[in-house]
Amino acid sequence: MSVTQQQLLDALAKVMSPRGVALTEADVLSAITVNDGKVFFSINVDAAEARAWESVRAQAEAAVRAVPGVTVAMIALTAERKPGSAAPPQSHRHAPGVPPVSSHRPPQGQPSPPSPMSKQSEIPGVAAVIAVASGKGGVGKSTTALNLALGLRHLGLRVGLLDADIYGPSVPRLTGIREKPQLNDQRKMIPIQRFGLAIMSIGFLVEEDTAMIWRGPMVMSAITQMLRDVAWGTLDILVVDMPPGTGDAQLTLAQNVPLKGAVIISTPQDLSLIDARRGLAMFKKVNVPVLGIVENMSYFQCPQCGTRSDIFGHGGARQEAERLGVPFLGEIPLHMSIRATSDSGTPVVESEPNGPHAAIYRAIGAKVRDQLQGAIAAA
Ligand code: ADP
Repeated sequence: MSVTQQQLLDALAKVMSPRGVALTEADVLSAITVNDGKVFFSINVDAAEARAWESVRAQAEAAVRAVPGVTVAMIALTAERKPGSAAPPQSHRHAPGVPPVSSHRPPQGQPSPPSPMSKQSEIPGVAAVIAVASGKGGVGKSTTALNLALGLRHLGLRVGLLDADIYGPSVPRLTGIREKPQLNDQRKMIPIQRFGLAIMSIGFLVEEDTAMIWRGPMVMSAITQMLRDVAWGTLDILVVDMPPGTGDAQLTLAQNVPLKGAVIISTPQDLSLIDARRGLAMFKKVNVPVLGIVENMSYFQCPQCGTRSDIFGHGGARQEAERLGVPFLGEIPLHMSIRATSDSGTPVVESEPNGPHAAIYRAIGAKVRDQLQGAIAAA
């Protein structure tokens, strides 16, 4: 059953806004995207009003979900901070995004704002959430996140993977997942089970070639929803494949998601090491422990003869990790079979579980697990 814009607008017209007019009259709605029963839009308000609008967002979502044919409703409340106005409230569930804590120091004599971590809450049933991040795109972050998740599963852990790279979700391609998540009785999305992992990606909800344009605060809202409105079940570790880069979106995410640690992926080239340093600094700023650096595409391994060539001047990430006092988790070669298996939807740890690459990802997984032992045991 196809859903029309008019049906959605009719449903939303019944929701009252804090401005005393119907939501559709309040001049706050973004364009509404309807795609195969999945509805996305945002409600854009001034940061000062954001709290008053949270219940409106929830009502709007309920109204949209009640429209016949709607399977998923993702409605973000986004708050713009007007120049010179006070900082918006810290983000909470479905709340507006938060500008970075970075350089906004309170004027002397004023109390410090609450710690950015104070609004975080654990995800019920999930012992540890970790981020896989990189300073820039194309370094193999998603490939590493998926194979690391599989390596952790090989170690006997219950593992989930959240593809939070909402600008370019690659997990559907890397896993070959084409189906859409179903809703359970509590109307939470049921993650797709593949290779023994519970997997969720925004790419499951939109068509691959649908350009997703996310304004800053909407990023956080969408990711929060994918973290909390998904029935993850009981997991030892949830691996979050972060969007690449170290901009505001990443910082906001790092300060809002209850992360137990972060793994930074870098290639040996200087440039990406500089970017990796930015990643380290970002997590430090929000008190997320860096579990370590992985050097991806560390050396070239010839698929025919197995000969190793250090074409990028290998070893930089290990030295950098030592210099910065963070663990070095391992080196992954640039190898044809890692690329080919990723791109065909059967990651190398799954397709060649007894091969040398799977052993490397498991060894990295073991170093990660050992650092999370406390959190996993406590849960
Ligand atoms: P990112 O998430 O950083 O943008 P991807 O994981 O999508 O990067 O990887 C980019 C490309 O590099 C993909 O084609 C992937 O198959 C390939 N790739 C990643 N890691 C390796 C590796 N160690 N050896 C060979 N190819 C790799």
